[in-house]
Amino acid sequence: MKDKVRVSDITSLLFCQRYCYFNLSFPEETTASKFQAMKEMYYSYRSDAQNWEKWAKNRFLAIYGKESEEIFNSALKEFKISKEVDEIESIETEVEVYKEELNLIGILDELVEGNKPLILGYKAPESGIWYNDRVKLTAFCMILDKKDGFVYYCKSGMLKGYEVTPKDRKVIIKAIDRVNKLKKGFLPEKTDKKNKCRNCKYKEICDVKDETFASKFL
Ligand code: SF4
Repeated sequence: MKDKVRVSDITSLLFCQRYCYFNLSFPEETTASKFQAMKEMYYSYRSDAQNWEKWAKNRFLAIYGKESEEIFNSALKEFKISKEVDEIESIETEVEVYKEELNLIGILDELVEGNKPLILGYKAPESGIWYNDRVKLTAFCMILDKKDGFVYYCKSGMLKGYEVTPKDRKVIIKAIDRVNKLKKGFLPEKTDKKNKCRNCKYKEICDVKDETFASKFL
């Protein structure tokens, strides 16, 4: 069987195809960030831990080390939990879900009542949900055979629902095909992405690596 495509491969592909290629070639561990700290806070809150702040801190420091305490403390000041979340029953947090027909796998932030997906975001846009979240949520809806799901924005304390469209699903199908090509060694040509490239962790290698021979044909 082909290697499974991860939901995170799809989100990195939509950021930049070459970025996704490098991510597949040089997988890296997640690093400590305020968003990762907020995720731990959300998981702990939803697990009904009596003292969720303490439990979240213990979890975060166990994963990222004591040197990450400042990141956690700063994130704690900004993290907001909304009463709306309490109205949705949690089934499980950080759950691995997989759909064989699509060969698609991912770690979902939370499976909620009705077996619907809930993903976490950082700061909410003024209206609706961010495009990246739409893509991610669609991928999880497709894995779970659901028409809709939720995004919870931890810094804004906002819960948003979203119903996926056929157009969203098509994006996922095309992205799966494209990730499979990258896995075969297809490195797309570099196109000018000034804002994205400026802070990209792969900038140096990307500047010297040409598109692959296969990319001219696949
Ligand atoms: S440097 Fe730019 S083109 Fe290269 S991987 Fe990063 S974002 Fe993509």
